[in-house]
Amino acid sequence: HTNACPSSMKAIQVRNTGDSSVLQYVDVDKPAVSAGRLLIKNSFVGVNFIDTYHRSGLYKVELPFILGREASGIVEAVGEGVSGFAQGDRVAYLSASTYAQYTATPPTNVVRLPPEVTLEQGAALLLQGLTALMLAQQAYEVKPGDDVLVHAAAGGTGQMLVQVCKHLGARVIGTTSSEEKADTARRAGADDIILYTKHDVVQEVRKLTNGQGVAAVFDGVGRSTFDESLACLKRLGFMLSFGNASGKVDSIDIMKLVPRAIRLMRPSLFEFLTTKEEFDVLAKQLMDLMAAGKVKIDPPMIYPLENAAKAHDVLEGRKTQGKLLLQIP
Ligand code: NDP
Repeated sequence: HTNACPSSMKAIQVRNTGDSSVLQYVDVDKPAVSAGRLLIKNSFVGVNFIDTYHRSGLYKVELPFILGREASGIVEAVGEGVSGFAQGDRVAYLSASTYAQYTATPPTNVVRLPPEVTLEQGAALLLQGLTALMLAQQAYEVKPGDDVLVHAAAGGTGQMLVQVCKHLGARVIGTTSSEEKADTARRAGADDIILYTKHDVVQEVRKLTNGQGVAAVFDGVGRSTFDESLACLKRLGFMLSFGNASGKVDSIDIMKLVPRAIRLMRPSLFEFLTTKEEFDVLAKQLMDLMAAGKVKIDPPMIYPLENAAKAHDVLEGRKTQGKLLLQIP
């Protein structure tokens, strides 16, 4: 018995929370297709910051678990009672346990890929694209002519946000840590970039908006930028704090929202995807934008599944631009 038996599969499992060294490449049981579920043979896994929160324990998951929230692949089997999908469909989807060769998932957050969209693009697009559409259309409604600020504008979510906000008619100011990332963000469509490592973000935003401030700040960086983001807003401005890349925002003094009547939301994608219909509407919009070339993605950086720890290190080390994927063996 030298080879792994066919009912087992490779996966990245977390047994204890911690840094990237807790990610273990192991053989686990291949999931069986069951009623109400699709069995998907994964092709590419999207690496997202949320995976690092699950790994570190910032967001609690029952141990042990297979990591991951996003992938693309081929439908291998369709469980009883599932309609709308067939064996062989190319799909992208959001589900737990995607850092694996196979995932069994309810069809709720699964979308068939249009012929124009590759499996690689599907995994690179879905979670961050849906997040951008949610943030710019639902959490806050970007209006033509709005000045908006997007932090980490060369990042995966950042580049999607830049494109979606431009598509909605905004003037987009981005922040990045390096010149190279600034070029990337400009290529994604950002009108102005503030190199926050060299310049004061609040002062630069004031200069760029005739002293007014921006209508909305999209802040996925979290702790290190929260206060300066508030200071960048105009009267009745909207603060969207949607991530913890630099750490979780500590409890805030509500009086900070008094000057200029600031509105604050801490949105999470999954609170906007509570039904299959909500997912389908947003996923269709995203796939249409992609198929029409209105949203683009650079070829992602790709690591083999077994090097997931390395992928986490580069993401947390600010060494990525755009999307990061794992390729499934
Ligand atoms: P990114 O590709 O944006 O990578 C993170 C970037 O954040 C870095 O490249 C870096 O850009 C910037 N950054 C600033 N400070 C730090 C720091 N201390 N440590 C690490 N990075 C830092 O990642 P994602 O697109 O996957 O995620 C971006 C954010 O969006 C995350 O906070 C994530 O949790 C959040 N998110 C939230 C969702 C929601 O539903 N609420 C859904 C999807 C993402 P630079 O070098 O230019 O500073």
